[in-house]
Amino acid sequence: VVIVYQDIALNSISRSAKSSTVGNKEESCLSRSQLVLYRKSSPHKPSSYLITKLRRYEELHKRCGPHTKSYNRSIKQLVSGQIDNSTDCRYVVWVAFCGLGNRILSITSAFLYALLTNRVLLINQEQDMGGLFCEPFPDTSWILPEDFLFKSEINSFEQNYNYSYGYMLKSNIINYSTELLPSYMFLYLSHDYDHHDKLFFCDQDQALLSKVPWLIMKSNVYFLPSLFLISSFEQELSKLFPDKETVFHHLGRYLFQPSNLVWRLITQYYQDYLAKAEKRIGIQIRVFDAETSPFEYVMDQILACTQTEKLLPEVDTEKTIAAQSENQTSKAVLITSLFPGYFEKLKNMYGEHPTKTGETVAVYQPSHEEEQQSYNNSHNIQAWVEMNLLSFSDELVTSAWSTFGYVAQGLGGMRPWILYKINQTKPDPLCGQGMSMEPCYHAPPVYDCKAKTTVDTATLVPHVRHCEDIRWGIKLF
Ligand code: GDP
Repeated sequence: VVIVYQDIALNSISRSAKSSTVGNKEESCLSRSQLVLYRKSSPHKPSSYLITKLRRYEELHKRCGPHTKSYNRSIKQLVSGQIDNSTDCRYVVWVAFCGLGNRILSITSAFLYALLTNRVLLINQEQDMGGLFCEPFPDTSWILPEDFLFKSEINSFEQNYNYSYGYMLKSNIINYSTELLPSYMFLYLSHDYDHHDKLFFCDQDQALLSKVPWLIMKSNVYFLPSLFLISSFEQELSKLFPDKETVFHHLGRYLFQPSNLVWRLITQYYQDYLAKAEKRIGIQIRVFDAETSPFEYVMDQILACTQTEKLLPEVDTEKTIAAQSENQTSKAVLITSLFPGYFEKLKNMYGEHPTKTGETVAVYQPSHEEEQQSYNNSHNIQAWVEMNLLSFSDELVTSAWSTFGYVAQGLGGMRPWILYKINQTKPDPLCGQGMSMEPCYHAPPVYDCKAKTTVDTATLVPHVRHCEDIRWGIKLF
């Protein structure tokens, strides 16, 4: 109990029970108060500046959120297409796209952008993402209302949409001295964006965009590290995050609390299989291409990495064990994968042979969905359950390139052991520990806005480096 109270005090980024319970709806988010019982306590304290900023954001969201007077006035601006001064509320509407890990990371990026630009973040949540999270902000909603002007077509907005910022620049529909800007613009910030879309990351473009009340953003990437390279945000970011490694850790824990339905699934699984072990080891296995990453290679990599790094004990293959006692599990291994093979092999190995250290190892895998189905709600629920279970690990092994793993490591506050990518041949080394718990931005711009030339964006400031798992990616450090 003492630990729990300490944790709440430390983790004051989540609203205290009292301030979070405005109306019964908020009170019923069980995970908000119970997560501290399951996650390892975080040694990383959010800055008081960040906490104040979040409380201010919550007020703004409440004042400008769906169906408030200010929101209704803002909608009128959207409908007319013209900017008027009837309200000071401005918005970022985030549009869903890709797997759940990608979505969580791009929502977090959009939220930090909203914080930095005093905008309100609204999520275009389709049915596939329904029921995953509690509402993060008190007394209001972050879900884009069903009656929103573009609701039925918003998902089909693409890079060359008429109101796309990059497209408008490229086609000379607007330039930096255009005075009559439209009341909304579309930002295409996805992995395959082009030079003009990426100008979003330049100060001059931010100055222009700040005049547009509605920004509709389609993104599937963790573009947040590049916000740290925009000089007009620099001062604010350094006050918000003195420790750059903790940005997703804090914002992710703040934004994404499992709904009651998901929380029941998480806690049930945890109690049934993981709670009794002395140590929990999470192994997230994401195979993007079974041809270039053959099963045997991946299996060897997992065994070699976990045993060399002393995460799991070796077994004595000369001996067999008759029956494993359920009561004395020293280590519980939680495998997550779309496929059952790795789990079966590991489970058989520890089930049949004693370990050289005398420890008992139990191996579990909650599901094997076989293929990614990101437009299926129950599939996304299962993925969210497993990201959370992984985040409760004492040690975590993740797969290179996977945003699923990044979410688990960030929420858990861990620097994971990364299984480097196998591409026909085994990597050397096979795995290595992440230098920070931050996710990697897979598709960063490489443009120096001032010099108007190409630049390696990992060389500009000390806290942005190339990722361990993707050589051209960047991450906060
Ligand atoms: P990434 O593709 O690895 O970067 O991660 P994403 O989460 O963006 O997309 C992969 C999606 O495939 C997940 O969201 C799940 O829907 C599914 N998936 C991949 N690996 C697993 C897994 O280990 N368990 C479950 N339940 N689903 C998975």
